[in-house]
Amino acid sequence: MSSNNVPKPEAVAPSNFLRQIIAEDLRTGKYQSRRWAGKPGPATVQAAGAPDPAAIRTRFPPEPNGYLHIGHAKSICLNFGLAQEFGGVCHMRFDDTNPEKEEQEYVDSILEAIRWLGFDWKTPSGKVLFFASDYFVWMYECAEALIESGHAYVDSQSAEEMRTRRGTLTEPGQDSPFRGRGVTENLELFRRMRAGEFADGSHVLRAKVDMSSPNINLRDPAIYRIRKAEHHRTGNTWCIYPMYTFAHPIEDALENVTHSICTLEFEDQRPFYDWLLARLADCGKLARPLPQQYEFARLKLSYVVLSKRKLIELVQEGHVAGWDDPRLPTLAGARRRGYTAAGFRLFAERIGVAKADSWIEYSILEDCMREDLNECAQRRVGVLDPLKLVIDNYPEAGEEECFAPNHPQQPELGKRALPFSRELWIEREDFQEEPVKGFFRLYPGNSVRLRYAYVVKCIGCDKDETGRVQAVHCEYFPDSKSGTPGADTYKVKGNLHWVSAKHAYHAEVRLYDRLFLVPQPGAGEADFRSEINPEAKRVIQARLEPSLAQAKPEERFQFERHGYFVADRVDSQPGAPVFNRAVGLRDSWGKQGGG
Ligand code: ATP
Ligand code: MG
Repeated sequence: MSSNNVPKPEAVAPSNFLRQIIAEDLRTGKYQSRRWAGKPGPATVQAAGAPDPAAIRTRFPPEPNGYLHIGHAKSICLNFGLAQEFGGVCHMRFDDTNPEKEEQEYVDSILEAIRWLGFDWKTPSGKVLFFASDYFVWMYECAEALIESGHAYVDSQSAEEMRTRRGTLTEPGQDSPFRGRGVTENLELFRRMRAGEFADGSHVLRAKVDMSSPNINLRDPAIYRIRKAEHHRTGNTWCIYPMYTFAHPIEDALENVTHSICTLEFEDQRPFYDWLLARLADCGKLARPLPQQYEFARLKLSYVVLSKRKLIELVQEGHVAGWDDPRLPTLAGARRRGYTAAGFRLFAERIGVAKADSWIEYSILEDCMREDLNECAQRRVGVLDPLKLVIDNYPEAGEEECFAPNHPQQPELGKRALPFSRELWIEREDFQEEPVKGFFRLYPGNSVRLRYAYVVKCIGCDKDETGRVQAVHCEYFPDSKSGTPGADTYKVKGNLHWVSAKHAYHAEVRLYDRLFLVPQPGAGEADFRSEINPEAKRVIQARLEPSLAQAKPEERFQFERHGYFVADRVDSQPGAPVFNRAVGLRDSWGKQGGG
């Protein structure tokens, strides 16, 4: 067994239709006879190999033409997760058969995102990182084999003529006048296409299936086109490129993939997938048993756009600051925002896989992040909207330490010291000069506990000429310090967090919220750009406990009473981290702006 180095599933996994199919395939030994040469290749190469050590093979096949997003995370967790669960291997494959729009930058960001999610393409029997463009020669040979067996022909109609003859959902298509070309002529033309003798669009190679099929995908789909474009890996070696519908099934078969899992929009292409692979197996190009395609519903997440085109517009038009802007649903953005890989794996497991499209509430993703962060984030104190509190009866130069647990549910993580002094920062909203009904925090005459420290009683406040409160004055009770004998005889309702003013670390904190104001951005007539939430990013100057100045990039914390924050991995300087809010403590969307 040679499963990828991936984390264990979170809990006992509930079954789903894919798990059932795989379990049944393993029970019947459907894929037992496969041989694996240790690398992708056609039937002759695989036949020389040993029995395949992987019980199943899946793959994650992104096109390197954009950044991965939360939808991809679902597919990644599914493909890598199933392989791990069933003693299989998941291949990382770049589907880079389209010479346009593909770039190294995207390749690098995709690999980084997958590793970050906790998955890997190293297996005990070697790396399973592949590029479909490495298969161009084999794909070309498959195309010639199809021509030779009478299953493909060169069509020289214009694109327009082809379109008119394709028919509609209700009318059958009509044969191309070139459909009857003989094998020799087709081979010669196809070789001349490859040699660069013809202009783009002047000929295409088509599979010869059935122009009257009710499934339009079977009406002689184009499988190779002339495209004189430079490819990011093969340069100018090729001027003909395989179409996706032709390339993808062959890639799967060359890699010994057993379960080729894709999103629902490919359902109509499955008959061609099967047709093509069967023809190529019959003529000895590809090894049986052949891969099989299964479809699941793509993730649609409320308040989010996951379309590559829309994401590119958001970045290029400057609505966000780049591909890793924490407001974006890219994995680079989510990571920077402080979301966790374990939170994504939990989310993928929780939403499961279905065969019908549906929208998933964004709050489910946030709940998964909270669940993971609650476990892994140490507690710290930060005041986001600072108001000065002066303890009039505390010694002017006095200073002492208070001790706060790093994690209330994990006492083994110990405690840290919080410096305490005469002047503190508290949250502005924790004081009301004239308290509203039910307010039990600070107001003149009321006592509260300063968390981990003393009970204080409010004796008044200072205001500026506009009436805005500038400072709150209190007196403390020296025998009320938390953890000292008798401290709990003080009964107070309020329990406030605070930071010592002279010790505080003044930090930039970014408060992030959902990028869109509506659950389905761009639905109906709306331009999704007009539905951007202008409050999705607010930058504040916070007062944090001094230990936070030492936070390392990507270290995550719970700021008590506020939520989960991460030291930004891009803008933090040594000794001067900047923090991003990943998610609040509770779902407060729509109820308040946050902070
Ligand atoms: P494109 O339109 O450019 O093909 P894509 O979103 O399909 O965009 P790919 O790079 O081809 O991007 O996707 C790689 C894999 O991720 C595919 O197998 C695809 O099915 C899966 N995937 C993409 N978007 C989602 C989504 N929203 N939910 C689940 N899986 C997805
Ligand atoms: Mg795609």
